Amino acid sequence: MKTNIKNYNLDELQEIVQELGEKKYRAEQIFNWLYKENVQSFDEMTNLPNSFREKLKEKFELHIFKIIVKQTSKDGTKKYLFDVLDGNAIESVLMEYKYGKTICVSSQIGCKMGCKFCASTGIKFVRSLETGEIIEQLQAIERDENIKISNLVFMGIGEPLDNFDNVMKAIKILNNPKGINMGARHISISTSGLVPNIYRLADEKLQCTLSISLHAATDEKRSQMMPVNDAYNIEELMKACRYYIEKTNKRISFEYALAKDNNDNLEDAKQLIKLLKGMLCHVNLIPINKIDNGKFTKSTNENIIKFRDYLNEHGIVATIRRELGSDIDAACGQLRKKEVNK
Ligand code: SAH
Repeated sequence: MKTNIKNYNLDELQEIVQELGEKKYRAEQIFNWLYKENVQSFDEMTNLPNSFREKLKEKFELHIFKIIVKQTSKDGTKKYLFDVLDGNAIESVLMEYKYGKTICVSSQIGCKMGCKFCASTGIKFVRSLETGEIIEQLQAIERDENIKISNLVFMGIGEPLDNFDNVMKAIKILNNPKGINMGARHISISTSGLVPNIYRLADEKLQCTLSISLHAATDEKRSQMMPVNDAYNIEELMKACRYYIEKTNKRISFEYALAKDNNDNLEDAKQLIKLLKGMLCHVNLIPINKIDNGKFTKSTNENIIKFRDYLNEHGIVATIRRELGSDIDAACGQLRKKEVNK
């Protein structure tokens, strides 16, 4: 397959057009068609000479996703299953909040992390997504719905920090004011805790929000839920988080999925407070979504509220995440399309 033109940033496009014997400014024209106009073919780039468009077509492809399935939830959340053109399929979710529209994108086809409570664990890892495939998730939905999406979260299938280079490149292309112009502040990266790449991310000094999927405050409990904890334990993870805060001055968001009789009692809250005390952070409590064959079930509402109040009373800012799209299997950790799962 020819390379997807959306895998290149503006600097690279400038080199490419010059190699093809064209002036540098042609790259900005292409970039504008791709990301401001969201065109679906080279032929729509009408200010490029015909002969140049033909040359582009010979060397590159403009990958446009096909929608295989689109489901709409009672609460307005929309889940898309896209054909990524090599026989694989990925999911993205569009959510509506008061402050705008947020897309939850996938970063990989399948996931290697093996978290015990997550539906992605059942999917065979195939490959990481390319830069252009990350961006096209947003653009395909913007075209389909005729909307502008304001926020993007890497909370779909896959571990974004296990696809570091492509995720970084996609973020920088999304940021570019000559194109989509989505500020880094509107982008969140969620990680299960790949410590070395949290350091790398900190050194990039982007203004993205970092979410850490913590889910337990002791190594014993965390390892039972997340195998990654055996590679990088909580102490190492916290050290990396402190480094991230120091470098970026950004508040970290800790995700904590409450599972009944597992990590949801006041003793767990006490340990969490001990761990996070004094840190520039926020805790996002997620009522865990039960997955098929999963042993973790949702805490009671009463427990979730108690847990939140206890954290808040002890100086840790905690909120309960609103559940969106659970009726269409689009809520956290549920993304997994059974029909196409090979
Ligand atoms: N791999 C990344 C991003 C994908 S998961 C990560 O681990 O952060 C996005 C979020 O959904 C993570 O916080 C993850 O822990 C959470 N999650 C996964 N399965 C879930 C489930 N069944 N219920 C609630 N949250 C879940």
